[in-house]
Amino acid sequence: MAAPPPLSLILPFEDARRVVAQHASQAVPSRVETVDLLHATGRNLAEQITADRDLPPFPRSTRDGYAVRAADLTKLPVTLRVLGEIKAGPSPARPAIKSGEAYAIMTGAPVPDGADAVVMVEYSSQNGDSAEITKTVTREENVVAQGAEAKRDSLLLDRGTRLNESAIALAASVGKSKLNVFVRPRVAVLTTGDEIVAVDAEIGPAQIRNSNSYSLAAQIQQAGGEPVLLPIAPDEPRHLRQLIEQGLQCDLLIMTGGVSMGRYDLVEQVLAELKADFFFTGAKIQPGRPVVFGRVSRHAASASPERQSHTYFFGLPGNPVSTMVTFELFARPMLEALAGMSLGPLAFLHARLKSEIKVKSGLTRFLPAIFSGEYANTQVELVPWQGSGDIAARVRSNCYVVIPPDREQIAAGEWVAVMLTR
Ligand code: AMP
Ligand code: MG
Repeated sequence: MAAPPPLSLILPFEDARRVVAQHASQAVPSRVETVDLLHATGRNLAEQITADRDLPPFPRSTRDGYAVRAADLTKLPVTLRVLGEIKAGPSPARPAIKSGEAYAIMTGAPVPDGADAVVMVEYSSQNGDSAEITKTVTREENVVAQGAEAKRDSLLLDRGTRLNESAIALAASVGKSKLNVFVRPRVAVLTTGDEIVAVDAEIGPAQIRNSNSYSLAAQIQQAGGEPVLLPIAPDEPRHLRQLIEQGLQCDLLIMTGGVSMGRYDLVEQVLAELKADFFFTGAKIQPGRPVVFGRVSRHAASASPERQSHTYFFGLPGNPVSTMVTFELFARPMLEALAGMSLGPLAFLHARLKSEIKVKSGLTRFLPAIFSGEYANTQVELVPWQGSGDIAARVRSNCYVVIPPDREQIAAGEWVAVMLTR
């Protein structure tokens, strides 16, 4: 006999997101691999990187000018003896100055001992090795002290750091040409529905091409996972179960379609047969209300000390925009955690609404919109759409306007939250 569908557990958006975050914070990425610095972009660091020496390694001049003792310039004009020129690059010994002396110095060069400022002088008369300084143009000290950015052996990059250009530059600056990163988690993608056919198959008038597996694969790659596309599952429990069991062998299973209340929406029923724990079976959002999150214990045979004892799954609604939104809101943080990334908050931008919005209250809405304007004049406007099946409208948009559940009307000119899409 089929297992009964699980009890309905529909959470407000922020509660649902918190539930995912709680589980994600316990996710253990296990395997580690070593990659060249050039191939580390977007990967998550599996080691701690410390400074191999002070940064900067010497007091560094931040501009071209004269390295001086600031106290020598309290009264102008003053004549200083210029001992020579220091440029960036190796020098046999670190020069020094005493009171009344200066060096001409270039950006990035080591400031001589005894100097505590680098100044640019507006005019000076040069006479042999003496320079008469009548006025200094810059007031700042223009010297970064040795170790001011980081002390030798201090932690620069922690485990879980997503490697963007600045993290990669920092690793390079301390001599790391290879980095230990977490292996990308394998994410099974299972599309369900009798009407769904492969992209390149011959198609009948009432059939729909599978686009969700491809949008999900793209989002999975962006989030640091490796998509594993399973065959399309029919709305038939036995075959569906086989494919779900196959998907549960991966590090994460993402299903689309078959999670609404219809007679042929069988995903939850099959998962219940597999003794899944359901953490929610819906979220008060639009699009994407029927989204499901849970996990299934691994069979003893396929469990290993290196892997978690269960596989998390998401059942995302099949309407293409619902699939994209619910991936972004719920599946992404779990996938990022499995990929070894430290969790960050879900941040929204704000922009002024161009035209009034009217909706029914009760759901947090993520509506495709166009973010435009620049500098301090950002604006946002909904794109006309035919609902969550309208991929073309989603393509015309570049963000979602986020409408809180207690609002029914938002006037033109109000500031609204915006979730940018990458
Ligand atoms: P469901 O969530 O199964 O009720 O499906 C909702 C809508 O999304 C239906 O119109 C489906 O045809 C459509 N749909 C489901 N899966 C896919 C898919 N993989 N690609 C494109 N559209 C889909
Ligand atoms: Mg369906």
